[in-house]
Amino acid sequence: MVYRVGKAWKLGHPDRVCAQYTVKCLSKFEAAVPAVPQASLISHKESFLNDQQLQARQKELREQYRQVSEQKLNLDLTRGKPSTEQLCQSDALDGILANDYLCADGSDSRNYGGIMGIPEARKFAAEYLETTPSRTMVGGNSSLQMMYQVVIGAHFHGVSGPESAWMAEASKTGSQVKFLCPAPGYDRHFSVCEALNISMIPVTMTAEGPDMDQVEALLKADPMIKGIWCVPKYSNPDGVVYSAAVVARMAQLGKIAGANFRIMWDNAYAEHHLVDNPPTLANILALSEAAGTLDNVVVIGSTSKITHAGAGIAFIASSEANLASLADQLGISTIGPDKINQLRHMRFLKDMSALRALMQGHRKILQPKFDSVLQALESGLAGKTVNGQALGSWTKPQGGYFVLFDTQPGLADKVVKLTAAAGVKLTPAGSTYPYKKDPNDSNIRLAPSFPSVKDIEAAMRVFVLCVELATIEKALGL
Ligand code: PLP
Repeated sequence: MVYRVGKAWKLGHPDRVCAQYTVKCLSKFEAAVPAVPQASLISHKESFLNDQQLQARQKELREQYRQVSEQKLNLDLTRGKPSTEQLCQSDALDGILANDYLCADGSDSRNYGGIMGIPEARKFAAEYLETTPSRTMVGGNSSLQMMYQVVIGAHFHGVSGPESAWMAEASKTGSQVKFLCPAPGYDRHFSVCEALNISMIPVTMTAEGPDMDQVEALLKADPMIKGIWCVPKYSNPDGVVYSAAVVARMAQLGKIAGANFRIMWDNAYAEHHLVDNPPTLANILALSEAAGTLDNVVVIGSTSKITHAGAGIAFIASSEANLASLADQLGISTIGPDKINQLRHMRFLKDMSALRALMQGHRKILQPKFDSVLQALESGLAGKTVNGQALGSWTKPQGGYFVLFDTQPGLADKVVKLTAAAGVKLTPAGSTYPYKKDPNDSNIRLAPSFPSVKDIEAAMRVFVLCVELATIEKALGL
């Protein structure tokens, strides 16, 4: 048996259609029917084409596909990176120091040292991550690197001495270190586990976050599960915001998990809204402090999609003990982070209200791109069914960087290959799952932030065409 997420759509907030998830237990490869938005059901005439009509439509679509392939398009909806226009919003970073390199505490940002980050950046990061400066560390340009460092440290060196190393426990007990991976999820989190031979256990995602019954049951049964990857707000890739109930249960996990368990709380999209009244995320640090599980939580963020993606600043919040251990381990590879960049960021970003104003600028640039993706899906696919099954379902995110599309089971790889051959690159099918194995082969991540609206429109025309073509060919057994 495999767990499968069936999606149904309902109209919620006027700005959004939200995917409502129900967990079903289905026999292997049994197809759950992706439902279609209620608002756009189409005529029955189109819904139930007979074989002859399907063949005619397939021929028509193949001809359209041939024509589009001849255009030799070169479009890319693969990675969620900011566009040049977004990057330009932060170009004032360049030269902002104007020869004044002194930090708030009088130290010289040009010199060695300061492994925890400069004081003003720690204060800022603490506000961003909703904790205190003493529980915050500011690093270099990549939160992913800091996460990798946390995992490496706990795995090889131990969070409180060599005896506590996950690897030491695994070799003592003859077992393997494991991580829970809510899926679909962020492929680079999964790469960290793969690189360290940490076994990944997929966990079902629901509209409220990971299925906590599953998470708790797995943790109770296996003390070698040493971590869980979470993107709690505008989750990469399904845009889910964890509910208060899920966050509250997360904060309790340290009490049922094995020793030295870590929740990797990657809040990469905390301020990356696409709606006027953004949802709020409960404060896991406050909840875990109250529960006595602060050591089990590592909260991560960065300015990668706020200022310059390749030259931002990253931060981590956790207990003082965890940060001290991380500082010790980081200190082996560096004498300190790029404090000049931290200082530049503080002079530029100033405070949270200035940061939020900057994020409104990002939203202005991103919104038409997301609208263009959603409009193409609505007009091209909503309500269309083949043999009574919808051609797909998709998310309408309230923030973050992705739209997630689900084809009928067994078609994601085919659609991605069809679009690639027609000059439109998409994230490889399966990338959003541990070991790149989507059990239903239905998940496709669409990342519209980088290309222009014109290019997105062209790419989405190809995408919609390929989804319909692949679905009809499947129905015809081709
Ligand atoms: N975490 C998530 C969930 C992401 O989607 C990304 C980038 O796409 C990152 C981390 C990378 O962040 P950074 O640039 O700070 O390493």
